[in-house]
Amino acid sequence: MSNTKPHIAIIGGGCAGLSAAAALVDRGLKVTLFEASPYLGGRARTIETKQHSLDNGQHILLGAYQQTLALLRKVGVPIDQSFLRLPLHINMQSNHGHSVFQLKSTRLLPAPLHLLFGLLGCQGLSWQERIKAIKLMHHLKKTNYGLVQDTPLDGFLMAQEQTPNLTKMLWEPLCLAALNTPITAASTRIFLNVLRDSFSGHQRNSDFLLPRQDLSNIIAQPLARYISSKGGVINLNQAVLSLDTQQNSLGQDGFKLETADGSQFFTDVIIATAPSHVAKLLQALPLADDIREVTQSYQYQPIYTIYLQYPESTQLPQVMSGLCHSTGQWVFDRGQLCGQLGLLSVVVSASGAHQRLTQSQLALMVTHELKLAYPYLPKPLWHKVIAEKRATFSCDAMLDRPSNQTLQSHLYLAGDYTYADYPASIEGAVRSGLLCASLISSEDKKSQNHN
Ligand SMILES: Cc1cc2nc3c(=O)[nH]c(=O)nc-3n(C[C@H](O)[C@H](O)[C@H](O)COP(=O)(O)OP(=O)(O)OC[C@H]3O[C@@H](n4cnc5c(N)ncnc54)[C@H](O)[C@@H]3O)c2cc1C
Repeated sequence: MSNTKPHIAIIGGGCAGLSAAAALVDRGLKVTLFEASPYLGGRARTIETKQHSLDNGQHILLGAYQQTLALLRKVGVPIDQSFLRLPLHINMQSNHGHSVFQLKSTRLLPAPLHLLFGLLGCQGLSWQERIKAIKLMHHLKKTNYGLVQDTPLDGFLMAQEQTPNLTKMLWEPLCLAALNTPITAASTRIFLNVLRDSFSGHQRNSDFLLPRQDLSNIIAQPLARYISSKGGVINLNQAVLSLDTQQNSLGQDGFKLETADGSQFFTDVIIATAPSHVAKLLQALPLADDIREVTQSYQYQPIYTIYLQYPESTQLPQVMSGLCHSTGQWVFDRGQLCGQLGLLSVVVSASGAHQRLTQSQLALMVTHELKLAYPYLPKPLWHKVIAEKRATFSCDAMLDRPSNQTLQSHLYLAGDYTYADYPASIEGAVRSGLLCASLISSEDKKSQNHN
């Protein structure tokens, strides 16, 4: 049987699919990416309405997102101009108009001392609570952030003698921001991985990086330009309808991929969709039965982003603050961040009673909460709620995560849910895409050596 060069189909143009495509074209391989929607970026993108250009959600990257940052640098994104880099600083604003918790790391000490020092001096915790938090961080460092058995985070924190106030002020907001999963269900193992990568290594790993421009300008578009410049093909508005095994006219094994425009043969396929779209694509592939089952068992968590436009002169004291005793969990000043003057975005992560409200009711409630937290705020001029009902998979304890390589030869899975060390995140998606690209190119090298 003669072997032609591989032609790889990538299904899905989110961070995972785009990263895989960028890495494959870099290695000189032929790639065609199919995206069902008219835009790239998947769950990390800008939404253009008639009046506004808004991100589908306020995204935060961490200094520890090394592969994402390296990839973006490679495709020409100027990281320092594109992101506002904030050293770890958590401010929780009460609904009485003042700050009730402040944790500030210091640039003067290496990790994790920069955090321990911050914990020692933080406001809003008793001395006893600060010591308990420091003891926990010390214990985690000693055990290399490892865990014998995964368990929901609330139980772990209780066993580590973290008080309800400490959990409320520090651990729960961090868990919601990182895992988008209530602490009653969230995986301790994955949470500790995020802490490990943020608080070990360089102190800059715990920095927050907030996009200074529309998300699509920083992620999807530069990646797409890079892929196209290296000969990769990107097809928008092309949902892949089905996938089956096939031999081409040369007797080479591969896949028949069906879209509304007809079918095409590919030697390799990367499915880089969210888990909820995977099962349908695998219907004709019995060797992928286990993946179908796993992805169908996933639960999802929403993220609501409430954009409130105030008069342009409106500013918050900080670019980013936590909100205590409120439905809204974090508020961002988009004016300071990306020049959208007077625009605030409020994030509500994970499931909760707010899902029973209409969008107008939710916007009204959040407006009222912001007024309590910042009494000088005037009336907003307009609001827009973006509800991502399946924003992320629920990162529950003991969640089964499929690997990138499947039992079906030359079929790979990418996507945030396949990067087992991380919660749903841009970094998880990027790493999964890069891993698939490495698997394919090493298979290609093997088959070239064989011939
Ligand atoms: C509101 C919100 C806030 C978030 N905040 C953060 C944050 O602060 N930090 C962070 O790191 N992460 C955050 N995330 C998570 C992050 O956005 C995701 O983990 C990441 O973007 C997932 O990328 P992906 O490529 O795995 O999947 P997706 O982005 O879901 O991409 C999959 C793509 O596949 C396409 N597709 C599906 N079926 C087909 C088909 N049959 N044919 C062709 N194409 C198909 C879809 O249209 C989609 O474009 C947030 C997510 C949301 C929704």
